[in-house]
Amino acid sequence: MAGEPQDDCLFCKIVAGTIPATIVRETDTTVAFRDINPQAPTHILVIPKAHYENGAALAAGAPQIAADVLAETQAVADEEKLDSYRTIFNTGSGAGQTVWHAHAHVLGGRGLQWPPG
Ligand code: 5GP
Ligand code: ZN
Repeated sequence: MAGEPQDDCLFCKIVAGTIPATIVRETDTTVAFRDINPQAPTHILVIPKAHYENGAALAAGAPQIAADVLAETQAVADEEKLDSYRTIFNTGSGAGQTVWHAHAHVLGGRGLQWPPG
């Protein structure tokens, strides 16, 4: 069923606590943790606790939780004292998505080029 934990999903395991992560924030519906391979001084992933395969599926299936994830990106930026930051949802392998559980990347702490390439 939509939103249910998936046995083979890395981020569902982080939500369940069976794989460790450096968690920086948690709410009833979201978890934020440091990316294992950071691309900036601050690189945090904000995920819904519920399993949806990407941000679009999350927005369609659980719009309030999608809003919670977005609100948490700002909360993370505030805690990290970031004036400027970038929020990225990679959707599809061609865009670099490698984990099929919705996640927002929050990147900051260095200059970020635009367009990103
Ligand atoms: P994607 O490429 O799907 O947009 O992002 C997946 C992100 O998850 C990557 O930036 C990758 O470094 C991160 N990641 C992959 N495995 C782990 C893990 O076991 N722990 C943590 N904290 N991050 C991970
Ligand atoms: Zn999952």
